[in-house]
Amino acid sequence: MIIPNKPRLTDEEYATLNAIAAEFHCKVGQIHGEAMDVYPIIGDESDDLLINRIEGLPFVDHVARVQEPYKLMARGNKMGITAIKAGTAEIGRDFALIAGACTIDPKNPQYFIETAFACKEAGARILRGGVWKPRTNPHTFQGDDKSLQILMDAKAKTGLPVNTEVMDERQLRLALEAGVDMLQIGARNALNYSLLKNVGVSIKGKPVAVILKRSIHAGPMDEFISAAEYIVAGGNPNVALCPRGTVPKVDGFRYNPDDHITMLLKKKTWAPVVVDPSHAVGNPAYVPHACLAAAAYGADGVMVEAHVNPKAGLGDDPKQAVTPDVLAKVYKDCQAIWRVARGYT
Ligand code: PEP
Ligand code: MN
Repeated sequence: MIIPNKPRLTDEEYATLNAIAAEFHCKVGQIHGEAMDVYPIIGDESDDLLINRIEGLPFVDHVARVQEPYKLMARGNKMGITAIKAGTAEIGRDFALIAGACTIDPKNPQYFIETAFACKEAGARILRGGVWKPRTNPHTFQGDDKSLQILMDAKAKTGLPVNTEVMDERQLRLALEAGVDMLQIGARNALNYSLLKNVGVSIKGKPVAVILKRSIHAGPMDEFISAAEYIVAGGNPNVALCPRGTVPKVDGFRYNPDDHITMLLKKKTWAPVVVDPSHAVGNPAYVPHACLAAAAYGADGVMVEAHVNPKAGLGDDPKQAVTPDVLAKVYKDCQAIWRVARGYT
């Protein structure tokens, strides 16, 4: 909808709008209001160039979009999907648990294997394990290629599909060659469009899913959804959206928990929403409550950092991993809350 900066456009101005719209195979209508006229764009208004051209005209105040800027992710376009697939796991039919270590310790593989079995026992559908880690400090442990083998061993032993973060094309290739079932795009790379495009193209036609974290900055909802659009546009709709907390942080939490955006994401898109409570609150004492909140908001699951012996872990595990007993209890309670929350949708 084009909103002019004066009550009525001249015939010449209206013709200018139509000439630009025609370049994008659209037309411009005219709605006569009492105080002013407004001008709907008729046709596909999703092209940013069209909007920018019109907003650049001296007699236009702004364009209020009616159609979302993303075509594939929009709720109206279900793409035939009811649940996404990551290997043998499905997400989007009920409340799913993804759990495992923040970081796999290549020197102590037994911790990850024990954690994997404990997560399975707690009900996890997908096992997470960080092979390569984005660290704020370049001198802290960055992950290790060797951990990929440990992740795949855990997959073979437990039968669980596995998830790991990839940050570049080399890691993407190694993860896909090894048989990783779900790729994680982390908060730091959430707007790395060349990586997102590459992931989209690389997984085309493969039974691989992507869990896309929300960027660390509290950007607009459409920015988050459009990032997912990059992946889906590559040819694989197995994408889940993951709110994980933003900056500026809430004093006392690690970030600013954003689990409540689940409701908005679900209204705008068809994609499952899997909340990451671990990074949002950053404290094992708060993680269970944050999991329950995600279920109350109607999320399709949570991705939780868990470890059999958090203090002996690497990366975030000593600070924020929950133990398997807590994980098992909270997952049961989440399922109950999720069923209650469903009564309100
Ligand atoms: C992680 O999942 O361990 C991680 C690094 O997450 P984020 O990208 O959300 O910081
Ligand atoms: Mn982590």
